[in-house]
Amino acid sequence: MAKAQPPLQLVLDEITECARASEAFGKVADYIPELAGVNPGQFAIAIARPGHPTLVAGDSDVPFSIQSVSKVFMLALALGKLGDQLWSRVGREPSGQSFDSMLLLELEKGYPRNPFINAGAIVTTDAVLQGSSPRETLGSLLRFIRAAAGDETIHINDRVAQSEIATGHRNFALAHYLRSHDNLKNPPELTLGTYFHQCAVEMTCTQLANAGLFLVGGSRTPRLVSEARIRRINALMMTCGHYDGSGDYAFRVGLPGKSGVGGGILSIVPGVASIAVWSPGLNHYGNSKLGTEAMEQLTTRTGWSVFGPHMTKGG
Ligand code: GLN
Repeated sequence: MAKAQPPLQLVLDEITECARASEAFGKVADYIPELAGVNPGQFAIAIARPGHPTLVAGDSDVPFSIQSVSKVFMLALALGKLGDQLWSRVGREPSGQSFDSMLLLELEKGYPRNPFINAGAIVTTDAVLQGSSPRETLGSLLRFIRAAAGDETIHINDRVAQSEIATGHRNFALAHYLRSHDNLKNPPELTLGTYFHQCAVEMTCTQLANAGLFLVGGSRTPRLVSEARIRRINALMMTCGHYDGSGDYAFRVGLPGKSGVGGGILSIVPGVASIAVWSPGLNHYGNSKLGTEAMEQLTTRTGWSVFGPHMTKGG
């Protein structure tokens, strides 16, 4: 006789069914040629909770390009290396502009608003890179992510990185502009080579949910950053993790989250769970369209929201 499914598993299965029935995927990120051919019909969701097996549904074992979700891990490394000195180079305010915007950077003299827009992430990577090589920096990043996920197989897809090196003119523009304000310490090619490889980390939804456990906190999660830093990283994910769609994500989902143009989203229920969702099609903010809708359904059904009134353990 089949064992009864736990309610949370049922919720995941239903959300996946609903996403699979939709054809309003949004548009895959074709400005990175290597990502242009990804099948937009794929969908996966995974929930990792301390002390529980990770629950998954959909294409949860298909690796995808985590892209800007990598900025969370690089920020954790940068805070470990520089502590509060990082804030002399990058701010912590939402930008209200698209992830690759140049606009505020000129007005604000090369001081990016936050570490999650591209300009701020490039500065963050540059800070970690200072005094070491791209190979060492990417090695530290992979070690961090593998330790967080408890999975040694996580790797970088060099083809995706090369594809961005060949076409990432906007990021080159941002890096050179930062350099003109002395807010880039390494040669732009070196920092960007590192940044593009960091964005090209590939993970499955299951691996990404597990990798987010270090931001859930508590005694049964990997202790890679302090509790105080966990709170700060989550705060930045809430206010800036979805760029100019951050307010909308907070309103609809109510959790800290970080998106990437590969269609992945990592969201944290503090003290409770790490959730990863993946659907490659993007909305007009450049965030996963069906992924955001799935997160909204999940938090509506579980009551998971940092805005209360009751934070349940769910399922
Ligand atoms: N590598 C991508 C870029 O720099 C990351 C952007 C994203 O995921 N929002 O354009």
